Amino acid sequence: MTLDFEKDFLIEELKKRKPKKVLVQLAEGIKKNSPEISQWIEELGIECIFSGETCWGACSVSVQEAEAIGADLIVHFGHAQFIPTDFPILYVEVKDHLDLTPLLEKSLPFIEKYKTIGFSFSIQHRHDLKGITEFFEKRGKKVILSKNIGNVAYEGHIVGCQYEGLKAIQNEVEAFVIMGNQFHSMGAVLAVKKPVILIDVYNDDVRGMEGLRNKILKQRVISIERLKEAKNVGIIIEIKPGQQFGSPKLLLKKLRDAGKNAIVITMSELTPDKIMNFYSIDAFVELACPRIALDDYAKYEKPILTYREALVAIGEKSWDDILEAGIV
Ligand code: SF4
Repeated sequence: MTLDFEKDFLIEELKKRKPKKVLVQLAEGIKKNSPEISQWIEELGIECIFSGETCWGACSVSVQEAEAIGADLIVHFGHAQFIPTDFPILYVEVKDHLDLTPLLEKSLPFIEKYKTIGFSFSIQHRHDLKGITEFFEKRGKKVILSKNIGNVAYEGHIVGCQYEGLKAIQNEVEAFVIMGNQFHSMGAVLAVKKPVILIDVYNDDVRGMEGLRNKILKQRVISIERLKEAKNVGIIIEIKPGQQFGSPKLLLKKLRDAGKNAIVITMSELTPDKIMNFYSIDAFVELACPRIALDDYAKYEKPILTYREALVAIGEKSWDDILEAGIV
């Protein structure tokens, strides 16, 4: 993995925009690169402050933080734009320059029996898209990119909570190939009904994702059953601008109508320690990143559900409805 922080683009944009003070947000895996980035920005005479808050996706744009420190621009590294904001944000997507040929070769046995594949990539590989599609097409495959639907920035771009673009092409393809990491492909296998193959660039591996699907579905059924039995329920909302998956007001009413003692709790980020002292709450429904409920099952003592799963627990939707629409 050789990351390109697009220094020339960054400097050109900063010279054009002329900010006095910037708040820099770095995706979690690249926070270690803050010293060199600080040097590039400060050499231009711009004050530079780094956000120490977690930044798992471009849903986490720290507008409140930027306003609190008096910054006039946010520079967000490692993600593409996810939501529109009034506050000025410069997105630097960060490219991964990697020789993908060995991994693409490795993926061929996994897609041997498929003629048409759906393809999606994490943002760091967008610049390689032409080469990747040509590689597959030269080997007789038809490649269809996932659609640009919802908050994804480009055709083929994949984000861990937005799978409508994959669902839109699933009837045209026999399998999906995802280039990126397990996070994106695990969401895909829960969203679509076709086989999902991950080209895992970070672990130099290619694998099918089917095994994980069944394990997660079992966990989801257990969580739904626990919410059915719960008396006290906490609805968790986060203040991150891109993390509003469902209306807390509406859900509160629905849960109360179903006989639950429900309350709404707000926080900057849901973590196990933050909910520990709400020990009278039997189950939580989170309207923040849906992947917290799905991926972090083992981290929480109490069940954590998504909005749609909560609707199953109160009998408004069936489990089959959810499976039909896709878990994510
Ligand atoms: S809500 Fe979750 S999955 Fe979606 S962009 Fe944010 S961190 Fe990623």
